[in-house]
Amino acid sequence: MISSPVVPVFAVRAWPGLIEAYRPYLPVTPETPVITLHEGNTPLIPVPTIAAEMGRGVQVFVKYDGLNPTGSFKDRGMTLAVTKAKEAGAQAVICASTGNTSAAAAAYARRGGLKAYVIIPDGYVAMGKLAQALLYGAEVIAIQGNFDQALEIVRDLSEMYPVTLVNSVNPYRLEGQKTAAFEVVDALGNAPDWLCIPVGNAGNITAYWMGFCQYHQEGRCDRLPRMMGFQAAGASPLVQGHVVSHPETVATAIRIGNPANWERAIAVQHASQGSFSAVTDAEILRAYQKLASQEGIFCEPASAASVAGLLKCKDQVPEAATVVCVLTGNGLKDPDTAIQQGSDHFHPGVPANLEKIAEIMQLP
Ligand SMILES: *Cc1c(COP(=O)(O)O)cnc(C)c1O
Repeated sequence: MISSPVVPVFAVRAWPGLIEAYRPYLPVTPETPVITLHEGNTPLIPVPTIAAEMGRGVQVFVKYDGLNPTGSFKDRGMTLAVTKAKEAGAQAVICASTGNTSAAAAAYARRGGLKAYVIIPDGYVAMGKLAQALLYGAEVIAIQGNFDQALEIVRDLSEMYPVTLVNSVNPYRLEGQKTAAFEVVDALGNAPDWLCIPVGNAGNITAYWMGFCQYHQEGRCDRLPRMMGFQAAGASPLVQGHVVSHPETVATAIRIGNPANWERAIAVQHASQGSFSAVTDAEILRAYQKLASQEGIFCEPASAASVAGLLKCKDQVPEAATVVCVLTGNGLKDPDTAIQQGSDHFHPGVPANLEKIAEIMQLP
């Protein structure tokens, strides 16, 4: 009897990363040297307790982009930005970052054999993000200034020296990030009625809109969502209509006072009949805790701005609407905030004694 050869099914079925998955929609050729960590294909998860709070038959899902290889949606843009930098012969990339861009830039640059330089605001980057950039092997320069100042510096450096800028002003970042909208439509079978999203530099909201519009033109969906952008109240230039020179919020990923994609964001708002609104740190932290303790979903504080915003705008949501909230980053990025917020449930220093423990557990 001849035994049949072992077919490695996993190898042919594995998700190939978003450049391969959406190749016809992206600016790549067969010669492009694709640098991928098999990012994308993140789950769209129903959040029933939040939907119940909304009422009126509203369906709510979260697009959990914290499950990308470096733990945030930034990987979607970075796979393409670093791929195109490599294709153009670059040997180094640079970015300013509130943390996640630096983690993604570092990972993809190193995977592609490029050097990575990242400039961050000293003291305002969550611990997990800093840890990542360092271990991936980026040169991390923490400046005594905020993100907006860091971005100005890297823009100048990339003009003066042979380093490719990979902030979201790099058009390939948005091209890669638009694939998240494709995945939402692929999962729902259509575009949602509302897309709620945290907004910092406004690259992601711009990219999602590009993705929805492209799929709409291709006939992959027959409607377009209203794009609902949410900023932290202490860093809400798009809501206030002017630059915020000292942005402050617990949601450090969106602690931005002068968004790099300002004009594009306004264009998206008009084209989609969307809006920009502010949510306070208290509202952000409430949604953050709710997602974790009621839905089992651990995102970072900035990500929870989308859910905080939805709950705040509850009465404006049409009956039986389908809403997608984007969860941009993984909760493990910012363990300090998680431990602070969860401290009510922490009982340190308890003697190793059954009665004492049972007492704390308040067992009946
Ligand atoms: C970068 C980032 C944002 C903001 O995205 P923009 O494209 O700058 O608007 C929101 N949340 C997280 C976790 C991020 O890393």
